[in-house]
Order: sequence, then structure tokens, then C-alpha cells
Amino acid sequence: MHLAILWFRRDFRLADNAALQAALRHAETVIPVYIHETGTGEPWPPGAASRWWLHHSLAALDQCLRQKLSRLVIRRGDVLEALQALIRETGAVQVHWNRLYEPHIATADMKIMSTLHAQGLVAESHAGTLLHEPAQLKTVMGQPYRVFTPFWKAFQRTVTVTQPLPVPEALKPPGKWPASLGLGELYLLPKLGWAKQFADFWQPGEAGAHRQLRRFLKRALADYPQGRNFPGRTQVSYLSPHLHFGEVSPRQVWHAVCGYAAGESHLENGAGAYLRELGWREFAHHVLVHFPHTTTQPLYEKYRHFPWREHYQSLLKAWQQGRTGYPIVDAGMRELWASGWMHNRVRMLAASLLVKNLRVPWQEGSRWFWDTLVDADLANNTMGWQWSAGCGADAAPYFRVFNPVLQSRRFDPDGDYIRRWLPELRRVPEKYLHAPWEMSAAEQSQAGCIIGKDYPQPVIEFSASRREAIAAHKQLNAFR
Ligand SMILES: Cc1cc2nc3c(=O)[nH]c(=O)nc-3n(C[C@H](O)[C@H](O)[C@H](O)COP(=O)(O)OP(=O)(O)OC[C@H]3O[C@@H](n4cnc5c(N)ncnc54)[C@H](O)[C@@H]3O)c2cc1C
Repeated sequence: MHLAILWFRRDFRLADNAALQAALRHAETVIPVYIHETGTGEPWPPGAASRWWLHHSLAALDQCLRQKLSRLVIRRGDVLEALQALIRETGAVQVHWNRLYEPHIATADMKIMSTLHAQGLVAESHAGTLLHEPAQLKTVMGQPYRVFTPFWKAFQRTVTVTQPLPVPEALKPPGKWPASLGLGELYLLPKLGWAKQFADFWQPGEAGAHRQLRRFLKRALADYPQGRNFPGRTQVSYLSPHLHFGEVSPRQVWHAVCGYAAGESHLENGAGAYLRELGWREFAHHVLVHFPHTTTQPLYEKYRHFPWREHYQSLLKAWQQGRTGYPIVDAGMRELWASGWMHNRVRMLAASLLVKNLRVPWQEGSRWFWDTLVDADLANNTMGWQWSAGCGADAAPYFRVFNPVLQSRRFDPDGDYIRRWLPELRRVPEKYLHAPWEMSAAEQSQAGCIIGKDYPQPVIEFSASRREAIAAHKQLNAFR
């Protein structure tokens, strides 16, 4: 009996799973495996919030597999050694997996593949994480893209997004299951109770991903182009962690959006705007693959000379704790802490305040997001931070320093978002909500919010710090 190992990594779904379909094509029996890498060489081990998600996503995957009479075998340690042990134990002759594009993972995969080939096994990787192969598109000069719009035009011109693959009817179990660790033995859940409340916000797993996708199409797609900018509204898809962990594929999302909007002229703009965001995800991976150093270093060399603030620990801490004194930023940082996610508009504002006004190195912000976001994704996070710092692909120009008060008035006009995440400001009148330090002493007493006691004074003065940021950026013109 031909037996294949299906190695799950971040593709925790049964639908549209190319590796699963390939394994089924070639073997009668498939053994689904997850190997938790524990070596010290892993440069980007999942952060605490991602580990929470991973735990629940693996549990959900196991449940789905059990409905098909299969199950998830869990191992820990060096991936190649774990795969080889499984091959010895089961007699498997094939290993299939879906490709990931983080450069360190791609390098490790090549080694695994060549070792298994050398042992005479079939070892195949398949496409399923992205809509295209990130090395596929090149400029007319044969170079990788660094600007989104031409990348997106080329993508739309040349990439055909094929239909998703079906869920298999059934998975034939092996005569004897290899031993598996219990999920609890991976110790993924954070020791502190901090992440417990994530469950109020999320349902990890394939079913949760599809529930979220349906909700988005029905309630939010039509107004997505405008609504997506307002953090107080639920007008985005919240699919980022589901996409990151592969509980739904971008191809499934793409076709669900196109299918739902087909023939509905009022949905045309929403669908176009949404697919473009999926395009940013593709672009982020394109940039990461071509410029792997950008996870820790700026894309453009001259930004290595940027004069970051030297002693910034207390400012960084205030930012992390949502105590900068700028309500829209603090609301975002508290949303992040409570739910493991932050609205995109607020991510941009929080990042801008950190790197431009506080002049804290963007890598500090990127690391904090890596640890606290349930959707922490090396490509998207790196791009988001380099964009904010002005040093990456298609970056915000250096003179664009978001004014958190004006942005807050514009995108949270009723203060719903701020009031939701900053209970100490709930009674502050609307006209002061975006800049509460402007209240008189009497108004502070009346609102039950004394600035400097119940809620901090701004940690930095906006206009002066903006001028300093622009001056610091101008200095860089001396460097090439
Ligand atoms: C500083 C900073 C850090 C970020 N870190 C991450 C991260 O670690 N992981 C992550 O998935 N996104 C990151 N983003 C991008 C973006 O904020 C999130 O993808 C988005 O907020 C997720 O919510 P959503 O699924 O409701 O998005 P929607 O608006 O519904 O968008 C749909 C999908 O498109 C993709 N997408 C949307 N915007 C972007 C973008 N700017 N770049 C790349 N892909 C995008 C995501 O996969 C998202 O799920 C970051 C942005 C910034 C400014």
C-alpha cells in the first residue's frame, strides 16, 4: 500500500490544499503531520500571540481530519529528523507540503527536499500560500518590483487565479497510526492569562475563517473602500490571521469575492479595493523573497545612517502599554494587547508615532508586533514597518508624519473606537476626545479624567518632534 506523509506547516485547511490533493493522487493512505520546530537556529520563532493561534488552529485541524476518519500526528524537534523518523516508522514513500516563502524557511526546505530525494523518496512542495510565485514577476529591466502600482498592474495582466481545489471526500486511515504528542505537550499557550480573552474575538480554524469570510461579504464588502479606514466600524475582513495560518487560501478568498460581486454593480468597487489589498500581501512576499535582509535592515542602504534616539526605553514602554497620551494610538495599542490584532489605519498611526515622532528604531516596533499580533507575518509586518519608517518598498515619503489628532478626528469622528479601548476617557466630551490635554482643570474633573493622573500627558510634543523627524530624514540625503 502506497503511503504518503502530508506535512502541514501553515496551511491548516482541507479545502484548496494542493499538497493534500497531490498526496491523495499518488498514495492510498495519507498521514497528516505537524512538526513543531524547536531548534535554536530558527530566526523568527512564532511570537506569543501567534502561538496562541497556532494551538487552537491545530486543534481545529485535528477535528476536521477526524471527521474524515483521519487525525493529526504531532511531533517536535528538528524537522528533517522528525520526517525521517516518521518515514522509518510508517514506510511512507512520499512527502508532500505547501511552499512557504520566508527565505530561511525556503532554504531549509531545499535541504529537506534534496536529502529526501537522495534517499530515493518522492518529496514535493506545492503552491497554495500565495496567488502567484513571488519570483515570477520582474520589471522590464528584469529587476524585482519596489513599487506597488506597477507590480499590481503586472500581476493583473499576467496572473490567472485558478479555481480552488475541493475538500477530499474521505481520508483512508493507515493500519496503525504512528505515535503522536498531545497538543498540550507543545506548550504553545502563553503561561500568563493574557491571551485568554483572544477567544472572545477569534475562532481559529477553517470553519472560523469561512464564517468570517461570509460575514465580510454580506456586511462589509459594499462599503469596504471607505469603511476600511474607520477603526470604529467593523468594515474590514479580519481575515489576516486566517490567511497567515492558511485556514483559508488567498485563492479561495479571491474567488469568493469575485463570485459574490459578479453582476452586482454596487459591489464592484468594494471587490476591486479588496482584491488590491490581497495584492499588497503578494507584493510584500515578492519584496521579502527578493530582499531578504529587509526583515532587520532597511531596504535602502542610506537609512542605516538614520539618527535614531539613543535612550528610548521609557518611550518604547509607554507606546507598548498604550500610554503615549495620544488617544487614537493608545486605543490601538490596547486593542492589540486585548485582542492580538489592530486595525490597519491605527497600525499606520501607531507605527508613525513610534518611528517618526519618538524616533525609536522601527525594528523595535516590528518585534513588538511580531510578539503580540495573532496575524504576525514576516512579509506583511516587515513591509508595514519599513513603509511607516520611510525606508522600504513603496514607502510613505519621509515628510509624511501622520498627525494623530487630525487623523483621529477624521477617522474616529464620534470617538467610538477611542471610548471602546480607553475606558478612562469614556466621559470626556467629544470635542476633547482626540486631544484630552486641551481640557481645562474643571473639565477634567467633570469628565473624571485628570490628565497626568488618570490618563498621561502626551509623551512628546507633536509639532516639534515632526520638525525633528523631517530634519533627521533630510540629513540622510548626504548618503547614497
Ligand atoms: C506597521 C504595520 C504592520 C503590519 N503587520 C502585519 C502583519 O504582521 N501581518 C499582516 O497580515 N498584516 C500586517 N499589516 C497589514 C495590515 O494592517 C493587515 O493585513 C490588516 O490590518 C489585517 O486586517 P484585515 O484582515 O481585516 O484586512 P483587510 O483590510 O480585510 O485586508 C484583507 C487582507 O489583505 C491583506 N492586506 C491588507 N493590507 C495589507 C498590507 N498593508 N500589507 C500586506 N497585506 C495586506 C491581509 O492579508 C488582509 O487580511 C501591517 C501594517 C502595518 C502598517
